[in-house]
Amino acid sequence: MRADACNTFRLWSGAPRPAAPSAASRRPAGRTPAAPEFPGRGSEGFERAYARWLTAHADAARSPGHAEWLACARRWTALDTDGDGVPDWRAIIDHRPAALLTPEDDDIDGDGAPNLLDPDPFDAAKRPPSGEAGVPRHLRMSGARAEAQATLLKEFGLLAVDHTARHGRDALEAIARFLRDARAARLVGPATSVRILYAFRGHDLEHESAAFHRELNAISLAGEPRARTGTGLSVTERARLLGAFAHELGHAFVFDRLGARELDRVARSFGGWDAGAADAVDMFSPALFAPHPLRALAARVPSGNGDALKFIADARWKQASLVSQYATSNAHEWFAEAFSAHLLARARRSATPSLRGPGLLLLPRRSGEYWVNHDNLASTFDAYLGETLQRLH
Ligand SMILES: [Zn+2]
Repeated sequence: MRADACNTFRLWSGAPRPAAPSAASRRPAGRTPAAPEFPGRGSEGFERAYARWLTAHADAARSPGHAEWLACARRWTALDTDGDGVPDWRAIIDHRPAALLTPEDDDIDGDGAPNLLDPDPFDAAKRPPSGEAGVPRHLRMSGARAEAQATLLKEFGLLAVDHTARHGRDALEAIARFLRDARAARLVGPATSVRILYAFRGHDLEHESAAFHRELNAISLAGEPRARTGTGLSVTERARLLGAFAHELGHAFVFDRLGARELDRVARSFGGWDAGAADAVDMFSPALFAPHPLRALAARVPSGNGDALKFIADARWKQASLVSQYATSNAHEWFAEAFSAHLLARARRSATPSLRGPGLLLLPRRSGEYWVNHDNLASTFDAYLGETLQRLH
């Protein structure tokens, strides 16, 4: 077996990789691999999480490469470098086997510096220089990007980190302007757990462009498009980037501020989500993951631009504040999509808007693409979002 079958999670683009676990590496006596729950982290031992995934995905477990992944995941998740009882890594993310291992232990070498802020996260003898203000030296960008990175941290407490991709200067500047224009600064500061902005390879501005990583207090975005380096983002690309960023802020807002019961309530009252389903008791309740009653209908986009444009502006979507086809996936996505439309509209209303024109409007050009129409946000739900955000100030 290749020792690096699982990539380790690189905390930033220059992060050192730890040595692969040796065959002899064992958890100290008395600690079982089926680790206990760690209160507050929403985490469980690898074996338990894996067993849970396996019951529903026996077929996927027979796919090529899975046995190699499992062997690798077992070896890495058994490591506990500083012996504090918290495993170094986790390999099941969002209830699925992950190719990148995520740090489970906030401080793998136990030197008191969180992994990301530690220039030597696997060496307890080396600690970050103290008394340094601003962006830690090992995460500092250079040239024109450095200024944008410093602004995001100083003004909003958001630390932009190059990971498997490089943040574009344009993107960082657009996000700072957007947070100002939408008066959304508190959404990355005091109001949610979002503190880090990663650039990940694998995200792009056409399809899945961002993700919210609750365990990492982070949002990840697409990085600088290689082919377009230096040319800047087009108007549509900027709207998509900011829309994706705001969408992830919406997920963070639900987890950190709104709660499952309130999400369930607004989904029913503003979104027409199935009133017959059992009440949601937590974030992963089935009621919050059921598709919208209009899901199949929303997928039947007629061909021809004129008909398609008419279709995505149909009154039925607006009645349920379905601002995109993707919003019909489940209540979480419905809320995040509406939240994004609300924040982008706020940004457009600012005195010196960084975004202009009507709300984001996209027609599917190929099968598998989704339509978007931000103008489908109903005024009642828009007002609810405005009032709820107002309470943060
Ligand atoms: Zn989402």
